[in-house]
Amino acid sequence: MGKGGEEFIMKSPDFCYYEALSIEDAIKFKSNDLESVILAGGQSLVPALNMRLSSPSCLIDISKIKELKNITKDNDFIYIGSAVTHSEVMQNKIIIDHLPVLIDVLDMVAHPAIRNKGTHGGSIAYGDPAAELPAFAVAANAEIILMGLNGIRTIQASDFYHGLFETDIQNDEILTSIKYPILKDNQKILFDEIYRRHGDYAMAGVVANIEILNNEINNLKLVFFATGTKPEVALKTSELIIKDGYDYSNVKNMIKTELDFESDLNSNAEMKLHLATILTNKILKLMET
Ligand SMILES: Cc1cc2nc3c(=O)[nH]c(=O)nc-3n(C[C@H](O)[C@H](O)[C@H](O)COP(=O)(O)OP(=O)(O)OC[C@H]3O[C@@H](n4cnc5c(N)ncnc54)[C@H](O)[C@@H]3O)c2cc1C
Repeated sequence: MGKGGEEFIMKSPDFCYYEALSIEDAIKFKSNDLESVILAGGQSLVPALNMRLSSPSCLIDISKIKELKNITKDNDFIYIGSAVTHSEVMQNKIIIDHLPVLIDVLDMVAHPAIRNKGTHGGSIAYGDPAAELPAFAVAANAEIILMGLNGIRTIQASDFYHGLFETDIQNDEILTSIKYPILKDNQKILFDEIYRRHGDYAMAGVVANIEILNNEINNLKLVFFATGTKPEVALKTSELIIKDGYDYSNVKNMIKTELDFESDLNSNAEMKLHLATILTNKILKLMET
């Protein structure tokens, strides 16, 4: 009951439940009922339903589809099936051997109970601007693999996010896997974020893909999250740092020109600009260690 005596509804609207038996089955159901949505781990969708932010006709459960639950390596690429949970990714031998930075990133995602249910594809598909994985996928030059009535298509993670919780997924499509290039010997991905409590969504965060040549930064891709409506690449800031190194005022002025900062419950846009600037310095210091 609210202060004024009004009732708060924390109960989802009515919906039907469908357990998909295969990817094709899920696509068929989804394209026949455009008001239905995919249910993966339910860690974002179920709270949204309970808060009545979403009222789909039906939930199509994809969590039992075996083909979506694999992690494989093929030459220089790792494929993570969309229904693999965060905990499964963290314990997987291919990830431990070939993409260990992803384990550090996932350690910042919520808490173990949520990581046991929440899925890799669910986080990428949901596109929460404060989530770590969308920014990681963009920084790592990942490709998003989607399947729909017309078959399979692949899109660069950097082109996948259009705006606030808005992605390139079409009505008949589901996200089937994410394809990550394995890092070269002279390349690393570094990650940092500022948060109030471990496991909370970040106040601001950055993922950097860095290529070193003769002890110098040869290539740098800075991707910020929890700063605006989607993960954003700061190309000009990256170039400035390669040329001139880090200076608080110069970096702050440059980031301001290329990122759209948005206030959220955690901090206002001005604070986020400051946090993004100091995170850039923290990442460069991490690089030296
Ligand atoms: C208390 C709490 C704290 C959290 N903290 C963090 C955090 O710090 N950082 C963070 O990144 N996340 C956080 N999360 C979110 C968590 O990581 C979820 O796992 C993730 O956002 C969604 O994954 P899911 O599998 O649960 O997706 P669901 O909730 O099942 O689905 C989310 C959305 O994606 C769509 N979807 C899911 N899978 C597919 C698919 N294969 N194809 C097409 N559409 C699909 C669904 O239709 C839905 O719209 C938190 C969640 C909670 C409840």
